[in-house]
Amino acid sequence: MGEVRYNFSAGPAPLPAPVRDRIRDELDDFAGSGQSILELPFSAQPFRDLIARAERDLRELLDISADYAVLFLQGGASAQFALLPLNLLGGNACADYIETGYWSRKAIAEATRVMQAHIAASSAATGFDRVPEVGRWTVTPGAAYLHITSNETADGVEYPWTPILRRVPLVADMSSNFLTRPIDVSCYGVIYASAQKNIGVAGLTVLLVRRDLLGRAHSFVPAVFDYTRQADAASLLNTPPIFAVYVAGLAFEWLKNSGGVRAMEEASLRKSAILYRAIDSSEGFYRCPVLNEFRSRVSVCFRLADELLTERFLDEAQDQGLLNLKGHSKLGGVRASLYNAMPEEGAAALAGFMADFANRWG
Ligand SMILES: *Cc1c(COP(=O)(O)O)cnc(C)c1O
Repeated sequence: MGEVRYNFSAGPAPLPAPVRDRIRDELDDFAGSGQSILELPFSAQPFRDLIARAERDLRELLDISADYAVLFLQGGASAQFALLPLNLLGGNACADYIETGYWSRKAIAEATRVMQAHIAASSAATGFDRVPEVGRWTVTPGAAYLHITSNETADGVEYPWTPILRRVPLVADMSSNFLTRPIDVSCYGVIYASAQKNIGVAGLTVLLVRRDLLGRAHSFVPAVFDYTRQADAASLLNTPPIFAVYVAGLAFEWLKNSGGVRAMEEASLRKSAILYRAIDSSEGFYRCPVLNEFRSRVSVCFRLADELLTERFLDEAQDQGLLNLKGHSKLGGVRASLYNAMPEEGAAALAGFMADFANRWG
């Protein structure tokens, strides 16, 4: 048992095998320079070329227009929770948030330390099983922006559509579903994502910002976290996370060679359907509380009806090479992350194990 292993970690998550191979092959000699990428000056031409190419490939993958700056930042998505209001508030008094689960609550809690975060809609009353209907959002006139979490990584809830807002810029934390489907970037003011889920390795946050939203940063924002200053410096205001940018560049190349975001979306629909079918056909042995329409393609969260069996489920899965299926530490249960690097065989193997386990313990 356990020769083939599938890693369902929510983050840091598995890299595509070709990306890992490239890292290994190139570690001592980057692009014929005779030096390791880890030891090159970030201001030297080879690294400048690398970060420029990564940006170009990302722009191509998501069809990002010149109206947007692409920033390579540090601090993770969590740093952005407080940096968003510091950069975007300008003269406005507040910003709106849609509360859909664990990560949006984190974003709200951090923003509240800086300003008044108004919850324009929440699905807390129904246990975070959906995205609240847009028609019922109470958007504040004059809000600096409205923030959504496009995929609630811990709760397994994903936006099936993009909200269209007329007057308020839309800001999205896409940490866990960035590059897993096509998006219309022009619907957003800001999109941001930690790298360790679908982009590469920890240490990098990719942030897209519409240029008309620049120039609003509070005077005490640290320069390296000031979107405008980093945009002006092409993200080279200080030493960028070189290795993480390098890996992101490799991942963008891999994505382009693998059919781009359209192919990733199709694969994610197939992979998640396999698992939701396993849950729904288990006659209540497994249950996913999220309403069908909002079930995440990339974070499949479920519980065993008999919670006492969860630990056994996780142990046996691990023994069979199905790794890191434990749900979020605050929420429990089981979570299978199906990011771009997870092959369909991984989902099928997990579904097979789920049926077998339910047969034996149901
Ligand atoms: C993982 C995650 C974060 C936190 O990312 P860090 O890099 O640990 O700060 C924030 N939001 C979402 C939706 C996530 O999935």
